[in-house]
Amino acid sequence: MYSISNLRMAIQKSGRLGEKCRDLLEKCGITFEGQKNQLFSRSMDYPLDLMLLRDDDIPALVRDQVCDLGIVGYNELKEKVLDKDGAENVEILMNLGFGRCRLSLAVPEDTNFENLESLRGKKIATSYPVILDKYMSAKGINCDIVEISGSVEVSYAIGFADAICDLVSTGATLQSNGLKEVLPILESEAVLVRNARKLSDEKEELITRLMDRIDGVLKAKRARYVMMNAPRASVDDIIQIIPGMENPTIMPLGQDGDKVAIHAVAPDNVFWDTMEKLKQAGASSILVVPIEKIIE
Ligand code: ATP
Ligand code: ZN
Repeated sequence: MYSISNLRMAIQKSGRLGEKCRDLLEKCGITFEGQKNQLFSRSMDYPLDLMLLRDDDIPALVRDQVCDLGIVGYNELKEKVLDKDGAENVEILMNLGFGRCRLSLAVPEDTNFENLESLRGKKIATSYPVILDKYMSAKGINCDIVEISGSVEVSYAIGFADAICDLVSTGATLQSNGLKEVLPILESEAVLVRNARKLSDEKEELITRLMDRIDGVLKAKRARYVMMNAPRASVDDIIQIIPGMENPTIMPLGQDGDKVAIHAVAPDNVFWDTMEKLKQAGASSILVVPIEKIIE
C-alpha cells in the first residue's frame, strides 16, 4: 500500500506540533485518512506518506533516510543530530513559524545569578545535555550536567540541581515551579528538514512543489488584502504608509475621477495604527481582509 515513490515525512504524533503539522499540510491541500494512533498515514491528494512519531525520534530517522522529510523543533534537531552526529546528512529547508520557544537556563527564584560564572561547578538538569554541554564548553564554564527526560521532571529536578535548562515559551510554567529564567541559550521554532542526499527526480520535484505550497501558506498567513477609497492626490502618501505594498490597483470612482479605490496586497498584517495613519492621509472605507493562498 505504501509506494516507495511516495515522499515519506515524519511528524510528531501528538504533542505541541502534531496538530499544527497536519493543519499546515491541510492548507497545502494535503489531507490524510486514518486514525491518529497509526504509525503511517497516507495522503489521498499528494504522493506523501506520514510517519507519526515521538518528536525525539524524528531527527535521526531523517538523518538515516528512513524518512525523506521531517517537521520537528529546531531544538530537537540540534540536540539529536546537528550538535551530535551526522549533521551533514540533514538539511533545513525552511522555518515554519510555529512551535516557537527558547531553551533557557533557570534558577530558583531566591538564587543570586550574576552571569554564567555563577554556574561554574554547579549541577544543571536538562533534557538537552548535548546543546547545553556545547554551549557551556564554548563559554569555558565547567559544570555538572544531569540528564532528565522531560519537563515533567523539572519540578523534581529542582530538588537536587542548582539550575535547570528547559524549553520556555511564556515562562509561566517556570514561575509556577518557583524558578526564574536567567539566560536564553537557543531560540527555536518548527523546521522542515530533509535528508541531504539527492533523491529521484520525481521526489525532488515533489519536495519543490511542497515547499512552494508551504511558502504560499506562510506568506498568505502574514499578508493581508487591503482596500480603501482615497482622493487621487493622496495616493502617493498612502502607498508610503503600508510597508512593502507594491503595485496597488488604482481604480477611478465615479465620473470625475477625483476619488479612487486602492486595492493591494500588504506583505505583513496591517494593524490599527497603520489604518489610523491611512485615515489621516485621506483614506476612507478601509478594509483589511485575510488571504488564504498565494502563488507568485
Ligand atoms: P513527544 O511525546 O513527541 O516526545 P514531547 O513531550 O517531547 O513530545 P512537546 O512538549 O509536545 O514534546 O514539544 C514538542 C516541541 O514543541 C518542542 O520540542 C519544541 O520545539 C516545541 N515547543 C514550543 N513551545 C514549547 C514549550 N513551551 N515547551 C516545550 N516545547 C515547546
Ligand atoms: Zn519528545
